[in-house]
Amino acid sequence: MSRHFYTEARSGLVQILRERGITNEAVLQAFGSVPREQFVSDPFKQRAYEDIALPIDKHQTISQPYTVARMTELLEVKPGHSILEIGTGSGYQAAILAEMGVTVYTIERHFELYNAARSILKELFQGTSIQCRFGDGTIGWSEYAPYDGIIVTAGAPEIPDALLKQLSIGGHLIIPVGSEKSQVMHCVVREDENNYADYPLEDVSFVPLIGKQGWSGI
Ligand code: SAH
Repeated sequence: MSRHFYTEARSGLVQILRERGITNEAVLQAFGSVPREQFVSDPFKQRAYEDIALPIDKHQTISQPYTVARMTELLEVKPGHSILEIGTGSGYQAAILAEMGVTVYTIERHFELYNAARSILKELFQGTSIQCRFGDGTIGWSEYAPYDGIIVTAGAPEIPDALLKQLSIGGHLIIPVGSEKSQVMHCVVREDENNYADYPLEDVSFVPLIGKQGWSGI
């Protein structure tokens, strides 16, 4: 596939996201810049700019672009923010955030995915804007807390306490909560030291969040 094909397809995706109701120009601009085809394996590259989730290794998925855009909008990021992502997967969501001028801390529990994402992210974003970690993200990453926003890209049985604690005051935690098959997207805003406002939003379907404060699994 030629570079021209991908450039055209990328602007087509931005158009689709606009039509689906994404209005944040910084988010749309990031989608117009990040090469999604580089985050999927060869057989799927041609379909990289359709608004669909695609399979990646380890039976996981790169989320549907609309979902990535919607969650990014809900985070209300500003350049210079530091954002924690649980579930690096392909690394695409992390790349969208980095493209928006955010410092990204991202955690993945599958070593192969962590490794692959880390190398593509390093290639696309030299410098220090993205830090990858291999491990269980349900306990957060206390070293760099508090975060201006936390995004969980896997479905949780409940909101992990550790993540609430690592959110800065005024920060947004975006997390799908529900069963292993279907969830409701929640936007939790930390109002002050001890108070959180929890806004349940639309129905979604994510792969399960597996870990200490998630589902149990291998
Ligand atoms: N944000 C990703 C979506 C990947 S799917 C992207 O843009 O491609 C969700 C990912 O969450 C999977 O890779 C899965 O392995 C990972 N995951 C599930 N539970 C986790 C946990 N406790 N800690 C870190 N990663 C986890």
